[in-house]
Parts: sequence; C-alpha cells; structure tokens
Amino acid sequence: MGGPVWERFDARSAAVLVSTSGAFVLPLFAFGSPEFIRAGGMPALVGVWLFTIASFAYTLRAGRLSDRQFVVIGFGGMIGVAVSAFLVTDPAAARAIVALLSAIPAIAAMASTRRVTTLFTTVAILIAVVLSVYWSASNTARLVAAGASVLTICMPVFMVAVLRSSLEFAVEKVAKLGQIDPLTGALNRRGLIQRHARVFDRCTRNGQAAGFLLIDIDHFKAVNDSRGHAAGDKVLVDTVRAIAAAAPSQSLVSRIGGEEFVVLCGVDSVADMSAKAARIRAAVAAGDQVTVSVGAVYAPIERAREGHSNISEIIDALTWQADRTVYLAKDHGRDRVVMQTAPTVRWRPGLPAELPSELVDLSGNVGLRALLGRGRDRQVRAR
Ligand code: GH3
Ligand code: MG
Ligand code: MG
Repeated sequence: MGGPVWERFDARSAAVLVSTSGAFVLPLFAFGSPEFIRAGGMPALVGVWLFTIASFAYTLRAGRLSDRQFVVIGFGGMIGVAVSAFLVTDPAAARAIVALLSAIPAIAAMASTRRVTTLFTTVAILIAVVLSVYWSASNTARLVAAGASVLTICMPVFMVAVLRSSLEFAVEKVAKLGQIDPLTGALNRRGLIQRHARVFDRCTRNGQAAGFLLIDIDHFKAVNDSRGHAAGDKVLVDTVRAIAAAAPSQSLVSRIGGEEFVVLCGVDSVADMSAKAARIRAAVAAGDQVTVSVGAVYAPIERAREGHSNISEIIDALTWQADRTVYLAKDHGRDRVVMQTAPTVRWRPGLPAELPSELVDLSGNVGLRALLGRGRDRQVRAR
C-alpha cells in the first residue's frame, strides 16, 4: 500500500489505539497489590485486561474499524470500565475509573453514525448514574454525582460532534468549490464530470438522448482587445447568466475553457435539441454584447454494465465532436447553431478513478491527517 503508516487508520481507530494502550497499563498496578481489588475479583480484572489488549491488537491489524467492529470493541470497553470500577476497593480510584466511560461515546462521535453515538452515550450515562447513586451516601450526593456524571459524558460527545460537523461542512464546501469556476460560478469540467450522472440517469430513465451543447463566444478576443480584460471578464459572467437562464431547468452549465461553455441536458429529439440550443443562442445575442456559436451534439445514451469508457472519456469524445461542430458554425458565419448526431453513448455509471479521492469520499479522514502530517497534500501536489 505504501505511504505513511498512519494512513491506515482513521481518527476513530487511532483514538481506540490511544485509549486501549493507555488503559491496559492500569491493571498492571493492581496485579502488584491485590488488596486494591475486592476479594475474588482478580479473574474478572484479568479478563478485562485481556479484552483491552485484544481490542488494541485487533484495531492495529484492522486499520479502519467498521461500525460493527467498533460497537463490539466500544461496548466491551464500557463493560470493562464498569467492572473495573466495581472491582477496586478504593472509592476515589473507582470514581476516576468511571470517568473513563466518557471517552468511549466521545470516540464514537468522531466517526460513527448518530444512532451508534446516541446508544453509547445513553449506556455510558446509565452505567455512570447507577454507580454514582450506588456509591453516594446521601440523596444530595446522589443528585450531584449523577448530574456530574451526565455532564462528564455529554460534554466531550457534544464537543466532538460539533467539531466533526463543522469539519464535514468545510470539507464539503472545499469539494464544491473545486467543482466551480470562480469567475462565473458555472461548474468547471470536474464539476461537469462529478454531476453528469443526474442528467444521464434521467435520460436513460425517460428514454431521452443527451444534448451536449458546446457554446463558444464569437470574436471574444476583440472584446478583450477593445474594452480590456476586466470588461471581458464581465462579459463572461453575463454570458453565463444568459446561458443559465435560457438552458432547460435541470441541465448542467459548465465553463470548460476561457470563453467556451457546455450545457448538458436531456433532449427528446433532434428537433427538441435544436429548439433548446436556439433559445440559448438567442438569449446571449439579446444581451447585445456578444454572440455565440453553438455546436450541438445529439447523443443517444444507454446504460452499459461493464467494459465501456468511463465518464471522463465520454465527455472528452463529446467535447471533441462538439468542437468540430462549433468550427462549422464559425465557418458558416458565427452566431448560429450547428447540430450533429453522435454514436450511442454506452454509459457505465460511476466516477473515473483519476478524480482526487477527497472529492469522491467526503468521509475521508481529514482530522487525523491534519494532526499527524500532510502526507496527503504532498501526494496530491506530486500528481
Ligand atoms: P472565435 O469567434 O473564432 O471564437 O474568436 P475568439 O476571439 O472568440 O477566439 P480566440 O480563441 O481567438 O480567443 C479567445 C480569447 O478568450 C483569448 C483569451 O485572451 C480570452 N480569454 C480566455 N479566458 C479569459 C478570461 O478568463 N477572461 C478574459 N477577459 N478573457 C479570456
Ligand atoms: Mg474558443
Ligand atoms: Mg471564441
């Protein structure tokens, strides 16, 4: 697999390793002074100790724990904490051990589903409350101890959950920004690839073909030359607005080059595509700033199981053909639509492997990488 060793673990597994490796030392002290443990409790303590070591070894081997594996290790750990606290004869040590319960729901909150985290939190609270009620001498002490236990368990869970959701939000936002052209707000090529499935899927379900419209601004260089680059930028923004307003409601609008845009939409027929392309051309011309030449490719589409090109290759082929078509429009005087039909696209749903995984897998472990090093960044840059 290669790469730094910590890349094998996600944050949750790393936290399991840290907590189990810390916890397995504690019983060693007790083994040295048996009076610290209730009479007859030693075998149970050895059991807890062995389970802790086994959890550590298993996690070390597994790398990323599945939710189910984590549930087994986590619940085992909570029972281990409760049993250990019950076994020790010193009340101060027992209370300190119970406080360890709060670690497990907090670890769950790092990466588990909401259900699992809630379950762990509830069970931890129940155990802590029952033990504190059992140990306290007065009702006031019971109330205070139970309340403090609830807080000790809930606060870390709350903090981890809040941090996790803001991290997820940020990651999602960065991924989205990576799919959007910063000048015009249209999708970029990556965004088009990332979202193509919505259009293709609808086409195959509704018996439509894909309409791939390549739109190139006419004489755009002259706009820059006569009015300046900033004015040129403004024209690009206005053009995208006009295209987006005129494009069919569920189409994808992307900027794939300097003054070249693609609209991908479902079309019922060549005539339907012609009408849609004409509407876009007219909308841009109505802005009285520039005109566009449109190369419209009508691509029948069917789902393929395997062995066919991935989406990146499909988009490349359609772009290539639409590019030729735009040339024809330019040759015939610009400000017009030219259409062609493409061979049937055999679409295999799924994203191309070469897309950076952080765009595809938002659950990727950003937190641990940020904590332990930036190996991932180096990898992306080297690509
Ligand atoms: P044609 O009608 O044959 O398409 O002519 P054209 O001038 O539109 O095409 P050409 O490819 O010669 O020029 C495209 C121009 O687009 C050149 C480049 O400076 C300009 N351009 C590309 N990206 C940007 C941008 O982000 N902002 C601005 N202002 N200009 C850009
Ligand atoms: Mg061009
Ligand atoms: Mg142009």
